[in-house]
Amino acid sequence: MPSAPDPRRRLPSVDALLRSDRGRRAVAALGRDVVRRAVQDALAEARATLARGRPAAEPEPLLTAAVARAEADLAGIGRTINATGVVLHTGLGRAPLALEAADAVARVATGYADLEVERTTGARGRRTSRTERLLAALTGAEAALTVNNGAAALLLSLAALAGRREVVVSRGELIEIGGEFRLPEVMAASGARLVEVGTTNRTRGADYRRAIGPRTALILKVHPSNYRVVGFTESVAVGELAGIARESGVPLLFDVGSGLLRRRAPLPSDEPAIDEALAAGADLVCFSGDKLLGGPQAGLLVGRRDLVDRARRHPIARAVRVDKMTVAALEATLRLYATGRAVEIPLWTLLATPRRTLLARARALAAEIPGATARASETSVGGGSVPGTALPSAAVVVPAKRPDRLAARLRTGPTPVFCRVEVGGVALDLRAVAPDEDALLAAAVRAALEAEPR
Ligand SMILES: *Cc1c(COP(=O)(O)O)cnc(C)c1O
Repeated sequence: MPSAPDPRRRLPSVDALLRSDRGRRAVAALGRDVVRRAVQDALAEARATLARGRPAAEPEPLLTAAVARAEADLAGIGRTINATGVVLHTGLGRAPLALEAADAVARVATGYADLEVERTTGARGRRTSRTERLLAALTGAEAALTVNNGAAALLLSLAALAGRREVVVSRGELIEIGGEFRLPEVMAASGARLVEVGTTNRTRGADYRRAIGPRTALILKVHPSNYRVVGFTESVAVGELAGIARESGVPLLFDVGSGLLRRRAPLPSDEPAIDEALAAGADLVCFSGDKLLGGPQAGLLVGRRDLVDRARRHPIARAVRVDKMTVAALEATLRLYATGRAVEIPLWTLLATPRRTLLARARALAAEIPGATARASETSVGGGSVPGTALPSAAVVVPAKRPDRLAARLRTGPTPVFCRVEVGGVALDLRAVAPDEDALLAAAVRAALEAEPR
């Protein structure tokens, strides 16, 4: 019986596509290695589509898609305008750095730096000792430790302080946050054994007391940074938990996540501040550098010296150390707090702008965009902080029959803009847009509208 012809045979070969006119031009402009791999990947996808019984793309669009991917990979990461309203948007890189921090990075990036040497003695030093002294001074902690990100700070603390022993944590705090961070999985990876207490909505002091025994190494409290349990709820405040920890002779680790160094307007009072968590008796507090601290990606650990030292000596500490650019950005960011210049941190300017200022800018922008209107809006801080709290804001609304298509045009233009897609149009929220970006934003929207008529 003759077998049916395999439709995969009809796909062109990699070489045939690369030898075509467009293939040659792409190779000349983008380099053979990257274009060849993009074409191989596009062909593999086409074969998989055929194998599922669906028609694959024709050679011409297949090559177009491959070249577009190669171009995007070589163009790399770029500056974008964040008109989503979410100030700490993980997809858009979280906190924008202060100019002073960006300058510090640029200065050390292209040359050498006194990263691990003492300038006065020439002796070997530690790369993060300056950062850690500043952090300790600003939070009132005995000691501090700097690693690569918040997840690493937690992993390291658990591995160093609990080893294979038990860690007691409330069921209401077994969180998942964006980017594949699931608390139970991080705990499992550290080797520590998870002992869950209480229920999703209610955990009391007695629940912790019952679970603590001879195998308990640590009590963990986690700020449920991206959701809020409302209604019939109860959790144990850090002060009460610190009392229980002390009675049982077990340290308390508080994963605050968001990293509000000290209380500042306009954040609500239930957003935990690092200095308050330590003053309330937490033995160790960990948080991210690029959330409410307003610095680079980093994981920071502050608290009792003996516990910080144990974490510092653990081999994972070396595996998750920071590079010189992070050190430079963190030192500069902390310097701004230390010298009373936190307002120079873009995050605090963005968060502190009154809605009426944003509305006035929205009206001025709307006047420059055909068919657009200005209105009050609400947004959130994002980045695992201040969950459930709406931030008053203002937006420019651009009507469109196909809002998703307009949003795609905005993302792929020469100045990429990320906005909110709504029914009947897109909303450009100004909460996370710096005033000096307004003119660029207006131009980008006008260009997108010309390319994508409504
Ligand atoms: C954000 C967050 C983390 C992870 O921090 P990264 O810097 O993103 O690695 C861990 N715990 C909590 C509570 C957080 O909010």
